[in-house]
Amino acid sequence: MENKTQYVRVNKYTRPAMKNKGVFGVVWHYTASAKATAQNIRDYFDGTCIRQGRYASAHDVIDKTMVIHMIPHNEVAYHAHDHSVCYVKQFGDNANFTAIGVELCIDANMNLEPETYANAVEYGFMLCKQYNLDPMKDFYRHYDVTHKNCPAFWVKDPAGFEKFKRDVYSKLQATAPTPKPVPVQSATVGHYIVQRGDTLYSIANKFKIDVADLQKANPQVNPRAMQIGTSLVIPNGKYTQYAIKKGDTFYDLAIEFHLDVDDLVKANPKVDPKKLQIGQVINIPTTSSPQPAPAPKPQPKLAPKGDQKTNSLVDYLKSINVDSSFSNRQKLAQKYGVANYKGTAEQNSQLLVKMRGH
Ligand SMILES: [Zn+2]
Repeated sequence: MENKTQYVRVNKYTRPAMKNKGVFGVVWHYTASAKATAQNIRDYFDGTCIRQGRYASAHDVIDKTMVIHMIPHNEVAYHAHDHSVCYVKQFGDNANFTAIGVELCIDANMNLEPETYANAVEYGFMLCKQYNLDPMKDFYRHYDVTHKNCPAFWVKDPAGFEKFKRDVYSKLQATAPTPKPVPVQSATVGHYIVQRGDTLYSIANKFKIDVADLQKANPQVNPRAMQIGTSLVIPNGKYTQYAIKKGDTFYDLAIEFHLDVDDLVKANPKVDPKKLQIGQVINIPTTSSPQPAPAPKPQPKLAPKGDQKTNSLVDYLKSINVDSSFSNRQKLAQKYGVANYKGTAEQNSQLLVKMRGH
């Protein structure tokens, strides 16, 4: 199946460019137009539909040979809110804000052809992987959402839709679980999640490091049998990887990873920060230089207290709000080591020097 991105132009009727609330499921539709191809439908939403001032669209359309992405998945498409109702609880009160809409093309008899069905299973599977969906719980017919007769072939044959969900489910079960890229924070070396088609050599090349160093850093990995999803340590790596979560922006990520937004942009030359997709993997530059140790704080000098000029012990004690009576001076004398205190001028001078420190 060809996978084609050909977004329709931003316009109020078919692509309002409103951000949605996320992807909580998929609503399946049919085109209701005998023998129309995916390209016909996409061009309709980009042309005639707009000229006719009709509010309608869907995110994707599938025919016998391809899927065309018409509306980005983080935007609203007008596909499942006719009569302003929503009978599917998990989509809230407007499924256009919470579900992806997928159109299925049909033959001359308004039926689904086997090739289109196979492509729908494959694309349903991809959506489940991308958005962590369960086809048994998160796939709905347009009919389930608003009671519209769509897709007519699955309204007439509900078991057919159940089979479709099970086929996607089986495909998910059959594929080995590939761990999702895990955000690696505060790493001093990079990590990389092995993707389909990667070799140790291609990864080394990507990070501009020596393949021998890469192998040394990952002794447990057999370069001839690398598993997709394995996390490799990238020695002196320039990047770690991060999968975009709902609501992420480059600005938030720069704060989270203690980076400059510019550095993030530079590390992802092919990524449009304004069109981040949930699940999209981006590079996070790593800071391999250790944080400098904080300089020792200078010990603050204690400000000299009290009257520093007077020669009178009593005046000094008063200036620091200490009881200057004889009995208290006696106690202070004992504490500061002026023996046998009688309150003589000499003893007072001694005590004054000791208390004041000079
Ligand atoms: Zn529909």
